[in-house]
Amino acid sequence: MPNQHGDTKRVYAKPFFEWCMQNGERGKTLLREFRDPEKLPTEVAFRSHHRAKWKCLKCKHAWRAKMHNRTCSVKPSGCPKCANQMPLCRTNNFVTWCNANGDRGKKLLKEYVDPDREPTQVTRGSTYKALWNCETCEHEWRAPMNNRTRSVKPSGCPQCNPPGGPKKKRQRDD
Ligand SMILES: [Zn+2]
Ligand SMILES: [Zn+2]
Repeated sequence: MPNQHGDTKRVYAKPFFEWCMQNGERGKTLLREFRDPEKLPTEVAFRSHHRAKWKCLKCKHAWRAKMHNRTCSVKPSGCPKCANQMPLCRTNNFVTWCNANGDRGKKLLKEYVDPDREPTQVTRGSTYKALWNCETCEHEWRAPMNNRTRSVKPSGCPQCNPPGGPKKKRQRDD
């Protein structure tokens, strides 16, 4: 016996496959990206909370996302790797680290002048040798991200902090 919510339920329960067929190019792309090991596209509702497995057609990255997050009309989610162009988490990059680290973070973010990677495209723990520009003496040098951000003995500007400690007797040039 059909109840008063029958129609709504039927709409919400529309199989993903059927939804894809009705959504042109977007539907085709999603259907091709759908690589769920547990469910067939005909078995899962397009608005379901099932965390399906997806594989990006562009970069081949595989990830899991809920059906409804991918099929919704407002801000659907896409491949996280393509979104960042880097295999990074949006909430874990050098900028978020700097923002969470007060004056020290601010200083490092200012000194970061790398021409190849945006500060959102690197992480603080990366071994990527970024380009830095010293706030104090304007010297430019390259140093791995993790050397500058580590909590114990972070590396600084080699001109302001020569090896062997600051303002020590010169050992070579005299
Ligand atoms: Zn991708
Ligand atoms: Zn310096």
